Amino acid sequence: MHLKILLLPGDGIGVEVTNEARRVLEAVATKFGHTIELSEGLLGGAAIHQTGSPLPAETVEKALAADATLMGAVGLPEFDNVSPDKRPEKGLLGLRAALEVFANLRPVRTWPVLVDSSPLKNHLVEGTDMIIVRELTGGLYYGTPRGIENDRAVNTMIYTRAEIERVSHKAFQLARARRKKVTSVDKSNVIENSQLWRRVVVDVAKQYPDVELDHLLVDNCAMQLILNPKRFDIVLTENMFGDILSDEGAVLAGSIGMLPSASLGEKKGLYEPVHGSAPDIAGQGKANPFGAIGSVAAMLEYTFGLTKESAAVNAAIGKVLDSGRVTADLKLKGAPATTQQVGEAVCEAL
Ligand code: NAD
Repeated sequence: MHLKILLLPGDGIGVEVTNEARRVLEAVATKFGHTIELSEGLLGGAAIHQTGSPLPAETVEKALAADATLMGAVGLPEFDNVSPDKRPEKGLLGLRAALEVFANLRPVRTWPVLVDSSPLKNHLVEGTDMIIVRELTGGLYYGTPRGIENDRAVNTMIYTRAEIERVSHKAFQLARARRKKVTSVDKSNVIENSQLWRRVVVDVAKQYPDVELDHLLVDNCAMQLILNPKRFDIVLTENMFGDILSDEGAVLAGSIGMLPSASLGEKKGLYEPVHGSAPDIAGQGKANPFGAIGSVAAMLEYTFGLTKESAAVNAAIGKVLDSGRVTADLKLKGAPATTQQVGEAVCEAL
């Protein structure tokens, strides 16, 4: 298969972790006989330095021309006191909008060797393996009217049937390739938006009779994620609930450096580790590249349908974790490896 991919390293450790992700991507192509057409673009602080804009038009063009985009991270301390409109992060928000990626997927799994890195008891986290599917382009974060005036503030939560349907289809399709269970999360005992949400999810579920559907109120879901994370396969929810629950889910995995993500639309996919540019460790070879490498696995599966290749990358990550050749954030025994050594170890394991 011919894979047309745009790489956006961004800032700080984004550059370091995408270097290793690229190394792994090339190793996969060699091993499985695929060709890669890799281009690179500017995003975030690096783009501001060179062009004055966090999202140059050329980057959007390249992203629209590629099948998938792999992003590192954006953000530099020198922009900390700059208005949100002129910050590197604005570039990422603009890119998500340009690619119309409405479903954000955050796989949450506990790797056996990392169970002690989670704040929960081992028997609770062991075997956790879920994907949180968050609606990304609607709801309270986008609805108008919105604003603040003296002591009164307004935000508006709007969802249409079409918006709920398309993200629900993604969730059910994902469930089909896994343990065939969707848990839809809402607050339908209080808000009308959630009543519509539940009604539409139930309608969509009729097209997937092989997938089990259950519903949880968001407050209960927050509790169940900690009490019994193993009960979840696919968690489907709207924008703000997903924002909050996915960070809660993130602690189950041990380190923020482990977490990949995928944002999917009808046509395009944007893949990125969950972490930021980590200025405190940038340029020192300390960044954990597994989140970025796991994002490559997600890309292979969701954009290209290469499930064997994706599983091989995840298996290689597992192997390297077991070998203990990992960065310092994972706090395993022995001397920590550098970002590059971890990337090379994953390629060897592949
Ligand atoms: P951060 O995720 O960059 O770092 C938080 C902490 O986690 C730091 O101590 C860092 O060293 C550690 N860490 C993060 N990723 C790691 C990795 N791969 N390996 C080892 N340790 C890792 O969050 P922050 O410090 O709040 O933000 C720094 C900058 O990144 C800010 O400018 C912020 O706006 C930006 N940011 C960008 C994204 C993104 O690009 N998607 C996400 C979050 C934050």
